[in-house]
Amino acid sequence: MTDCLFCRIVAGEIPATVVHETDEVLAFRDISPQAPTHVVVVPKQHHENAAALAAADEALAGRLLAAGAAVAEAEGLEEGYRFVLNTGADGGQTVFHVHLHVLGGRSLTWPPG
Ligand code: AMP
Ligand code: ZN
Repeated sequence: MTDCLFCRIVAGEIPATVVHETDEVLAFRDISPQAPTHVVVVPKQHHENAAALAAADEALAGRLLAAGAAVAEAEGLEEGYRFVLNTGADGGQTVFHVHLHVLGGRSLTWPPG
């Protein structure tokens, strides 16, 4: 059994509110939302971060972005939204299975806090 949280969600061992799924990706609501819409999109295959995913399978990295765009459209974020790929400890990554945050539904400031 894996100790990777998002692999366990993909395997159905930990419940999540799934909003989008394909053979290759799963999108579910973040448990601690930072905006009215906060969804994380993961490849079902384990890759540690975005750089590792892009190095292993560029096409899958592209499909992760496409899935994020599909989520944003389904969530009605036509005023805009933010994609975030935290990478490594200084990047704020806490779950080391690459995940695309899709944030929207309010005006987001830049730079983030
Ligand atoms: P990051 O800090 O970029 O690694 O993001 C990890 C995200 O996973 C955080 O926004 C957490 O709130 C979220 N998270 C942690 N556990 C769960 C869970 N069981 N279901 C959904 N989201 C989770
Ligand atoms: Zn994993």
